[in-house]
Amino acid sequence: MKIKRYFWITILTITALLVAILPGKTQQSTSSNTLFQTSTISALAVGVFDGNTNFKQLKKSGDFGLGTVNSLDGEMIGLDGKFYQIRADGVASLLPDSMTSPFASVTFFKPQTLINLEGQINYQQLQQSLDQRLLSKNYPYAIRIQGNFPYLKFRSLPKQTPPYRPLAEALKEQSIFELRNVNGTLVGFRTPKYMQGVNVNGYHFHFITANRKTGGHLLDGQFQNAKVELDTLSKVEINLPKTAEFDQADLGDSKPTKINRVER
Ligand SMILES: [Zn+2]
Repeated sequence: MKIKRYFWITILTITALLVAILPGKTQQSTSSNTLFQTSTISALAVGVFDGNTNFKQLKKSGDFGLGTVNSLDGEMIGLDGKFYQIRADGVASLLPDSMTSPFASVTFFKPQTLINLEGQINYQQLQQSLDQRLLSKNYPYAIRIQGNFPYLKFRSLPKQTPPYRPLAEALKEQSIFELRNVNGTLVGFRTPKYMQGVNVNGYHFHFITANRKTGGHLLDGQFQNAKVELDTLSKVEINLPKTAEFDQADLGDSKPTKINRVER
């Protein structure tokens, strides 16, 4: 009788310990295969630049991603669980957990597919080649390209002050950078056409150098024997801002082609 009681006490103790330990061990609140995003690209396009989700929260939904920072203060890139801000001067720095983002897309990156693109191609050819090889265009994809790049052209944005202007206006002050023969990582997403207005339709990449000193939003490039890693995502979670700014934004008239022109 006594042994049986000790047995059950032991089982209960182990269960209680596991319950106490496990949630602490898994910080993820979002499962893999999920594209988690905060706000929408149509809201960013009309000037909803106040961040609504901080990086502590974003890290619970992904270790990999891109977007921007509160007040459109530069470009954001996340990889290996670290999130960087690249300001308009091109300088990259680690983002504090307390900083917020008005638009970000993140996922827990688990590549399942590797596509080798032989030879030297430009950014447009890279997008076309990938489109030809994707098994389906109806899922969002997270994409990573690491290595040496013969040429990359990227941009960053200057911090805005309220009242905010539309994104296209703010982009007139963008800084453009060009690097040749550079080592680093491109973090990107491809979202299906039916997600227009929610995310950037098609390909969207941000870059950071291997030494994590500079980078930005990819505008153009040359790719040599690019190794493209893909993660097919089958769930989408959107955290819409509960702010007056988002409340009152006119998103009924979002023009996807206009968004694509500024964001791609
Ligand atoms: Zn971007």
